Amino acid sequence: MSVMTPPRTKGDYIEEVLTLVKAKNPAEPEFHQAVQEVLDSLRLVLQKHPEYRSAKILERITEPERVLMFRVPWFDDQGEIQVNRGFRIEMNSAIGPYKGGLRFHPSVNLGILKFLAFEQVFKNSLTTLPMGGGKGGSDFDPKGKSDNEVMRFCQSFMTELSRHIGPDTDVPAGDIGVGGREIGFLFGQYKRLRNEFTGVLTGKGLAWGGSLIRPEATGYGCVYFANEMLKTKKDKLEGKLCLISGSGNVSQYTIEKLLDFGAKPITCSDSDGVIFDPDGINREKLAWILEQKNVKRGRIREYTDHFKKAVFMPTDVKLDHNPLWNIKADCAFPSATQNEIKKRDAENLIKNGCKLVAEGANMPSTLEATNLFLQNKILYGPAKAANAGGVATSGLEMSQNSQRLSWTREEVDDKLHKIMIAIHTTCYETAETYGTPGNLVNGANIGGFLKVANAMLDQGLV
Ligand code: NAP
Repeated sequence: MSVMTPPRTKGDYIEEVLTLVKAKNPAEPEFHQAVQEVLDSLRLVLQKHPEYRSAKILERITEPERVLMFRVPWFDDQGEIQVNRGFRIEMNSAIGPYKGGLRFHPSVNLGILKFLAFEQVFKNSLTTLPMGGGKGGSDFDPKGKSDNEVMRFCQSFMTELSRHIGPDTDVPAGDIGVGGREIGFLFGQYKRLRNEFTGVLTGKGLAWGGSLIRPEATGYGCVYFANEMLKTKKDKLEGKLCLISGSGNVSQYTIEKLLDFGAKPITCSDSDGVIFDPDGINREKLAWILEQKNVKRGRIREYTDHFKKAVFMPTDVKLDHNPLWNIKADCAFPSATQNEIKKRDAENLIKNGCKLVAEGANMPSTLEATNLFLQNKILYGPAKAANAGGVATSGLEMSQNSQRLSWTREEVDDKLHKIMIAIHTTCYETAETYGTPGNLVNGANIGGFLKVANAMLDQGLV
């Protein structure tokens, strides 16, 4: 349970809904975790608004509108048949077409995508743009596959997905393992099957309907959000030592924007291990990371071959903590994956004087870690608020596609910056209104919920 929310009692309605969700969705711990975090915050809302209870909004909002699960067969380079599983969770369309990324990673399963789709509903609402929530993907692993194999997989995946999506129905984007290359193959196959050139995906290439700043948006947005959090304490990013996990899309542009603000990023990672560079990751080193990860598709450990003062700490599954979060720093930007900050990691960050955690990844902190941050009054920016810049800019890409025009880099960046300021203001003010000042978890959950719940009330029982 979140701190500063009323305690649970026996016969508690929230508790009943949570029990129901767990019973109906067994073996989906990540989905249970995401639902629990939101429902704990909503206890504050239901006290003031009994109409949500009588309309069974909680029972409805935790049930996807539609779940698609399908076979994805494809030929590998050896001519062998491979079979993966594809998914699309269409969670909630109360305020707009389903919107949310596609994840290609061997860990993908129904529960992980349901947690991501559920989070997306509230995140998209916070952006102020008219987007419902969805998420999808596959247990396909693009790592180690040739471009041709990735293309054949994407074409087979889209052959089924194309029946269910469309620019006014459901608009997927990228996520872990799905970047510009994959979006290109997916878009090409959709166009071929439907004979339509439409904004059915976001994260497209600039020459064929993409938006400037979309690749940078999640990382940039997360840093803009962190800057707003610090401003409430009359503090700033300049000179701050920053820990970043991951070395993919979100990490890369978090590092870039931190450099713009005069901060000093000192770590990054991939699933093989952690890089600690005490001299800081400067623009030259960042350019190397971009080339290594986006072009060569190599491993981060090679960083130390080029930048000699840096050290590489290989992943050790026997450890009960990640050494990355045990390095002394002022700010932390988890940007790899879910539950990467566990209780012990949160304790290490707090012990080392970390003042701010801004979540670039989705649900990177366990519930125990989140509660520790809140109890210790760390400036804590939860994922659905702090990383909403990516989907917000996808929303801007959709607007540009509908109007058949392209905004400049400055225009998009300015809109993104303003959206992140507005999201922070909503979270901050909502937390105060509901009696938990500074608790941006409550602010984000309640702020995101109200708009969706009211739209659901307006639209009747659908
Ligand atoms: P990405 O480009 O594929 O990069 C993911 C990074 O995280 C890689 O360095 C990867 O290392 C590492 N990673 C992934 N799974 C891991 C695991 N199980 N254990 C350890 N390391 C792992 O993906 P991304 O787009 O940056 O996404 C990162 C996070 O941000 C995800 O939680 C995603 O949902 C969230 N997010 C992304 C966007 C967006 O616009 N892309 C928007 C909002 C939120 P390996 O290369 O070794 O796998």
